[in-house]
Amino acid sequence: MIIPITCVVAIAVIAFILGVRPKDVPAPEPVSPFQHLDERKAAIYENLRDLQFEYRVGKLSDDDYQSTKKDLQKELARVLAEVDKLKNGAASQPAAAPPPPAKAVAPAGMVCPSCGAKFAQELKFCGECGKPMKVAL
Ligand SMILES: [Zn+2]
Repeated sequence: MIIPITCVVAIAVIAFILGVRPKDVPAPEPVSPFQHLDERKAAIYENLRDLQFEYRVGKLSDDDYQSTKKDLQKELARVLAEVDKLKNGAASQPAAAPPPPAKAVAPAGMVCPSCGAKFAQELKFCGECGKPMKVAL
């Protein structure tokens, strides 16, 4: 009676692992598409550097160099276009809120130190009280 019980236990364990584990294990962290593209971009830049080096030391013919360079530049343009597309997509998402406009502090020369009047541009003299405005130099 031991073997059938062991089998049942083994099957139960396997069923438990197969049935429960996938739900318990969190989904793998999605790799940032930017990271993926950055890596590709870096690889292309590296290839271009290598290509230039090999051409300079005379390992490559002019034709080989030009055609490979063109291919790499085409690939690079594609990656950059993809990055742009992703960036534009991310910008339209509400999560990526733009930083609040830093307009809270008016620069010197726009607020009268005497009467506190505010102006849209720097003035030498206050338009309200006529006293000299402090202009930062
Ligand atoms: Zn004033």
